[in-house]
Amino acid sequence: MALSYDDLEPRVALAQIASEFYRRGWMPGTAGNLSARAGDSQLWITASGLPKGQLDAQDFVLVDIDSGEMLERQRPGQKPSAETSIHRAIYQRFPEARACFHVHSIDACLAMSRLPAQLQRLALPPLEVIKGFDLWEQDPQVALDVFSNWLDVPRIAEEITERYRDVSPNLSALLIRNHGSTVWGGSLQTAFNRVEIAEFILSYIARAGLPV
Ligand SMILES: [Zn+2]
Repeated sequence: MALSYDDLEPRVALAQIASEFYRRGWMPGTAGNLSARAGDSQLWITASGLPKGQLDAQDFVLVDIDSGEMLERQRPGQKPSAETSIHRAIYQRFPEARACFHVHSIDACLAMSRLPAQLQRLALPPLEVIKGFDLWEQDPQVALDVFSNWLDVPRIAEEITERYRDVSPNLSALLIRNHGSTVWGGSLQTAFNRVEIAEFILSYIARAGLPV
């Protein structure tokens, strides 16, 4: 069987995935950030401010999930991604999450642009690809949660923690308005597949309009 991203050293896989997402236009310039859980309590995440089409395995820093403290950098001057707090919130709330990917796509922004400002959920059409999120229902009625795009990123993370304190989302993905999507999974390959699926659905909504 062909290699999956799960067969690679996580930082090598993350660099390859960033390159692939960049090629698809989902990580323009330095936008977006990718992380993988290391052990139970730490994560590797893209260092801040790097062009995502040109990363290598040294372009990730090790961060403690609970404290947010950077434990290891691989090159002088590296800092964790500005959006690390969002990844930490996901790993804290969902122990099964082993990888978390955040991308900025045109279609995600277009799909959300059709959603009235007061709504915080984007209903999805019952597309076949939703099965890729391990949801096996006939004509599933599901939605993606939409969060406000605060300039103060930790505030976005706090709202994620708050909204999921007692409930779990339908799908292991969420949206940030005018910004992009965050998707997680139990492995690097699963998270990769789910970003593709989420972008398929968002592209569909961007072209077809909101489901009625
Ligand atoms: Zn972002």
